[in-house]
Amino acid sequence: MKKFINRPEDVERQVVDGYVKSYPALIRKVGDDVVVRTHRKRGKVTLVSGGGMGHEPAHLGYVGTGMLDAAVGGAIYTSPAVDRISAGIEAVAPDATGVLLVVKNYTGDVINFRLAEEAAREEGVACDHVVVNDDVAVGTPTQREQRRGVAGTVFVHKCAGAAAEAGEPLAEVKRVAEKVIDNVRTMGVAIAPCTVPAAGKPGFTLADDEMEIGVGIHGEPGIRREKMEPVDAMVDEILDHVLADIDYAGHEVAVLVNGAGGTPDYELALVANHVHDVLSARHVGVWHTYMGNYLTSLEMRGFSVSLLRLDDELKDLLSAPADTPAWQQGEANLAEDAAPEEDAAPKQVAASEASNVPAAEATGATKAVIDVISAVADAMGAHKDELTELDQPIGDSDHGINMARGFSAARALLPSLAGEAPAAVLKKVGSTLVSKVGGSSGPLYGTLFRKVGVALKGDDSLASDENAVRCLAAGLSKAFVGIEDLGGAKPGDKTMLDAIQPAMEALEHARGEDAPLVEALAQAADAAEAGAEATVPLQARKGRASYLGERSVGHKDPGAASFALLMRTVANAVATRAK
Ligand code: ADP
Ligand code: MG
Repeated sequence: MKKFINRPEDVERQVVDGYVKSYPALIRKVGDDVVVRTHRKRGKVTLVSGGGMGHEPAHLGYVGTGMLDAAVGGAIYTSPAVDRISAGIEAVAPDATGVLLVVKNYTGDVINFRLAEEAAREEGVACDHVVVNDDVAVGTPTQREQRRGVAGTVFVHKCAGAAAEAGEPLAEVKRVAEKVIDNVRTMGVAIAPCTVPAAGKPGFTLADDEMEIGVGIHGEPGIRREKMEPVDAMVDEILDHVLADIDYAGHEVAVLVNGAGGTPDYELALVANHVHDVLSARHVGVWHTYMGNYLTSLEMRGFSVSLLRLDDELKDLLSAPADTPAWQQGEANLAEDAAPEEDAAPKQVAASEASNVPAAEATGATKAVIDVISAVADAMGAHKDELTELDQPIGDSDHGINMARGFSAARALLPSLAGEAPAAVLKKVGSTLVSKVGGSSGPLYGTLFRKVGVALKGDDSLASDENAVRCLAAGLSKAFVGIEDLGGAKPGDKTMLDAIQPAMEALEHARGEDAPLVEALAQAADAAEAGAEATVPLQARKGRASYLGERSVGHKDPGAASFALLMRTVANAVATRAK
């Protein structure tokens, strides 16, 4: 599709620069895709939010007085990597009374923000988080942990931001954020999809006469596809779900009629018109309506309706002054201590540490490990499109892109690791995947490499076939547990674990049989491929695919497929070396 862009790979940086140049009095950039307030106010709780880009004006448009202190962006629709989130926290933590992270409920965001929070706490920062899960299209009222965070997040920014600006302590700001989360519900619909520039193809397709009810903000398919209806009927269905979820009767609400990026105001006005009629018929009082593009999905032709159930406290917080690029109201008095920050040299978060280091010659086991990882990086590059295509029907069309980006960062590191032991090589590759890649697969694959690295730490771990099979089997089972802990999924949930578990069992079996390394790896690769294939009939219970419910059946899990590819590549590379 046609877009007003230059090159796909420049989009995120140029979006951030465009905002920062347009609103220099309000926001400034301190690192790649990390934006903070120009006038920093000290001695208060600071609010950090973010996620993949493509939702503009969220989140950088809400940085400023009375809302966020920092917004951290990732590649479009991909959770930012831990390093970036840490850079955002570090920029606003000094002289703050605490840091609250506002996280939308996506596996990648939850994992990456959690790792950054842990790192901040280790540095002595009082850091806490809330997870927004306002989308009623997914999960029942008692399964809110399955629900996505969508446009209601903006109300969290506004109310928690006002509480923080008023000098409330961290626990109080968190209480306010959680109160908003408990009282806001949202659902959306789309009539035409959106295209991630780097993917080049729409995240889903809709016929001319179709609509997608319950669509997510990353172009994830919704819960149901139907023939087009008049907009009033769409609003009826959305409000049926929203109003059934919590009891709004007798309360006043704030209404957010949010455009998904490709919906003109006149259509949003039709939505607002009918929302008001329905609410009035249902005896729900409208305190205020916010209408416009608040949290978008690139150019998607869609809208969502959020209802925030109000009390006096939330009304006061919504009414408090704000001065940000996308939300301005009242007199946002800049405090005396809020002079513009000195322009410290921007911290380069994504410095490529390794590329200029002259390559020492790797030898022995280290060379073997480096060669194998290079082969994996080649394979991920070669199968990028295929993995991305698997992520299209049941995800957000980025898995191949994430894997290729991650392994190319890992490859860039390899020359500098020639003098290291195999364990250190694997651990550093793992840390690179965790800290630089983002998405859910970055930290999950990072954990895999780190755990296998730990298992190879003995000097003789690769000295014989027997040792290698034993250490790799132990490493894979540690990786399995580590990924379970981090992502909370179990085998059968239709994730990479469904390929990792059979590979781990095959290696363990091969160890018991004293199989040679080449054979053991080939068996593990066979098992991983069979495991990936066996995800096809499963219904997803974790990750983005879980939002589809039964519609996730019939598709192979992309992460299971990439693990099978990794295992096969390792097996082949080791076999080739053995010849
Ligand atoms: P994202 O889901 O953030 O877009 P990717 O598309 O790169 O990230 O990765 C998707 C894959 O990650 C899924 O196919 C699945 O195998 C894996 N995955 C997602 N969530 C989990 C989880 N909670 N535990 C284990 N694996 C997961
Ligand atoms: Mg994905």
